[in-house]
Amino acid sequence: MQRRQIAATTLGWVLWTGTEYAMHRGAFHFRPTRSRSTLGGRARQALIRLVAAEHRSHHREPLRTSLFLRLLGHVAVAAVSSGVPVMVRHRDAWAGWVGFTVGYSVYETVHWRIHHCPGTVNDARVEHHRVHHEEATRSNFGVTVPWWDHAFGTVAVARRRPDLSPGVLVD
Ligand SMILES: [Zn+2]
Ligand SMILES: [Zn+2]
Repeated sequence: MQRRQIAATTLGWVLWTGTEYAMHRGAFHFRPTRSRSTLGGRARQALIRLVAAEHRSHHREPLRTSLFLRLLGHVAVAAVSSGVPVMVRHRDAWAGWVGFTVGYSVYETVHWRIHHCPGTVNDARVEHHRVHHEEATRSNFGVTVPWWDHAFGTVAVARRRPDLSPGVLVD
């Protein structure tokens, strides 16, 4: 692997972490305002509402999981994001796509493990996400990395001991 391909893969992964943050903050916790007047705007908002509803049910039941939906997510992200290198036609674009799609798969796996086998994930990552679920749903949107929460001022620290019975916040 050439140095520039490694750089492109790393860049793709960093781009994924930003996407992860933006999606979680902007779509998963979407609060509807006025409905858009254009057909495209209404269709986009309907899709975001669907994603937000699915995420609300994740907040209500963090251990509920669907292997089908999880696998579909990996395939969908890989397929949709492949449109970028197809259009860009730059020789390193596919390396960036690898970083982006592997970034999604790492995120999805880390998120699943945080809820199902937290002992296998870095304590700080588990705590960051626990606070998001149980104390501050408008904070700690980053799951794989906390950088973007620091950059955009959405970090929340624990107000109570994590060994207390878990609460459920849906927002
Ligand atoms: Zn979660
Ligand atoms: Zn959330």
